[in-house]
Amino acid sequence: MKIEDSIETFNSLLKRRGFIWGPSPEIYGGFAGFYSYGPAGTALKNNILDIFRRECRYFGFGEVECPTIIPRIVWEASGHLERFADPVLRCNKCKTLYRADKFLQDNLPDQVIDGLSFKEMEKLIEKSILTCPKCDIPFERIEEYNLMLKTTVGNNTIAYLRPETATTTYLLFNRLIQDARRQYPIKIFQFGKAYRNEISPRQGVLRMRAFDQLELQIFISKEMEMEFEDYKEIKSKKLPLLDWKLQEKGINKINLIRLDNAIKKRILQKPAFAYCLYLGYHLTKILGIPEPLIRFRQHSINERAHYADDAWDLEIKTRQFGWVEICGIHDRTDYDLRKHAEYSKQSFEISMGSDPKIKEIPQVLEIAFGIDRIIYTLLETTFTIDQGRINLKINHRLAPNTVAVFPLVKNKENIRNLALKIHRDLLENRINSFFDAAGSIGKRYRRQDELGTKWCVTIDYESLDDNTVTIRERDSMDQIRVNISDLAEVIKKKQDE
Ligand SMILES: [Zn+2]
Repeated sequence: MKIEDSIETFNSLLKRRGFIWGPSPEIYGGFAGFYSYGPAGTALKNNILDIFRRECRYFGFGEVECPTIIPRIVWEASGHLERFADPVLRCNKCKTLYRADKFLQDNLPDQVIDGLSFKEMEKLIEKSILTCPKCDIPFERIEEYNLMLKTTVGNNTIAYLRPETATTTYLLFNRLIQDARRQYPIKIFQFGKAYRNEISPRQGVLRMRAFDQLELQIFISKEMEMEFEDYKEIKSKKLPLLDWKLQEKGINKINLIRLDNAIKKRILQKPAFAYCLYLGYHLTKILGIPEPLIRFRQHSINERAHYADDAWDLEIKTRQFGWVEICGIHDRTDYDLRKHAEYSKQSFEISMGSDPKIKEIPQVLEIAFGIDRIIYTLLETTFTIDQGRINLKINHRLAPNTVAVFPLVKNKENIRNLALKIHRDLLENRINSFFDAAGSIGKRYRRQDELGTKWCVTIDYESLDDNTVTIRERDSMDQIRVNISDLAEVIKKKQDE
């Protein structure tokens, strides 16, 4: 099967099996950049969040939840009003907007566009005489297009929908510091919606105007960034790091490098930041994304967000879109807290280092996941077609259904009743069971393979005589016969294997 065909099959599967629908609202033609999750997609998302929340707790992170509508002054302070912008080209005739970096990359495929400043892009446009594809008018200059969504609250007070969860976490800082009884490091995460007014959203759920983030923050002293307790346990771990120097040389080969070597070679500057890279890697791998498809790519200075001292993207290799960023790891320094201290006239200077005389504004390290991108890349990288059989080889803890229960024939009352009883027993044991009596048994198996259901249980004529059922495993399609009374225990054991 050609790769285009398999991508086509995959895209239709997302809709057909209730993972992702849209753009929403579909019945009104769809609003670009907005999507809905069907029952399977929502179940998958919740399962991912369960695992992330459990792991965050394991690594010592507390969770907060903040409003998504935030007054203007916050974004003045954070610099988002001024600088949270994409470079765009505007046609002087038809007024169409194009995202400049994407437009350049599409039209000058041999040039390295990533990392160019706005000025450098403008020069390139002049030199290459690029014109509007619709009216052939040459583009002149690059404009900045702010990505924040504006709204009004109450009696015309201007506010903005948050473009990230992170800033709303920082606003809690004086509460957090008390809550942590003034002990470093303070580790906090937040999950929730963020909004960006993308110019021309493409690539489905990869570039949405409303999306979910899970962002982890570590508040820490400068001293502790270099002398970080948690780093000691993970410093021998190897990560696939593609630093900026390699990219400049045109090298794209991924090398696994030990974190302590990366520090020694000055690829990474701070042990606490190395720990953040490790956390991002760990959370990605635990979902079952294959290691060879994961890499960290360092940003050039021009590519970095206005607040970042160092920034790396954790990327997943996809068939449809190439390398896709699912997580950004940023060294935000004391930038945010310093600005919010200034604008709110609060003092965020605290002494928590080894010398109580030294007071300083904490440094912030950030691990920012895009949850929708994780869902897309997870589905794409586990999607397989083998001799016409579609199989979603997803981790069974993430699959929407753990088990599906089928009566072999749907019209035999006693087989159907026994199957229903077994289904209810599994649910009683808090195993996510799905009952399906519709269509041929082959079709029912196929539907569950496409949903990634790891085990299918079939109740047949024999079951009525000897109280046994068949369990069929998704990937091997091996079948075993077990006693109905042992079924829940057998499944539970398999879940832990
Ligand atoms: Zn035009």
